[in-house]
Amino acid sequence: MTTYAIELPSIVGLPILGTDALFPVRRVYCIGRNYASHAIEMGHNPDREPPFFFQKNANNLDSSGIFPYPSHSNDVHYEAEVAVMLKKGGANIELDKALDHVFGYAVSLDMTRRDLQGEQKKMGRPWEIGKAFERSAPVGLIHSVENIGHFEDTTIKLKVNGNLKQKGNLNQMIWKVPEMISYLSEYFELGAGDVILSGTPSGVGPIVRGDVMEVSATGLGSLRVIVT
Ligand code: MN
Repeated sequence: MTTYAIELPSIVGLPILGTDALFPVRRVYCIGRNYASHAIEMGHNPDREPPFFFQKNANNLDSSGIFPYPSHSNDVHYEAEVAVMLKKGGANIELDKALDHVFGYAVSLDMTRRDLQGEQKKMGRPWEIGKAFERSAPVGLIHSVENIGHFEDTTIKLKVNGNLKQKGNLNQMIWKVPEMISYLSEYFELGAGDVILSGTPSGVGPIVRGDVMEVSATGLGSLRVIVT
């Protein structure tokens, strides 16, 4: 039997609607600028250029409904996104087979230290410090494909303290879910337990301690997150 020299790190398990079984997280990929409206508000060209991805850590995903304001930032932004959970992986996945790899979907937030991300961008450095910090990806209950199927036409919204800040539709994505899966699988070997955050529509902005964020999407319910 294999033994380990230190205590085993825990596996991150996310709750699934309708079952006590958890979804184990392996890797987290996030796409940048996947809605034209958000690309424009960030000062970029909204044309369909090749997609780009960054990663968060598995244990940055958090379903507690609490977001502790992170250190070393005075400009932390919400980005409402739909997360895609994979049940099987592979390399070079064909576009028309890509959705067969999806276990389910959930609402999520790609929380961002925008000031630190901006400094890194200016210096041409990687973004981890702005993106991959503790509890930086609140995630709602996973809705399995078995129960809800797939969808392209789904409204996603984000409210802060009851005020609507973001509203978009998954049909506005520059790169659709099957395309993201197929593209990623050309560069990485995807695996069961991988999660893809599918990008945010326009309207991103800052939060402060005490704010309540609520992200919702048609068919995926909602997630309330308190900033502490
Ligand atoms: Mn994002």
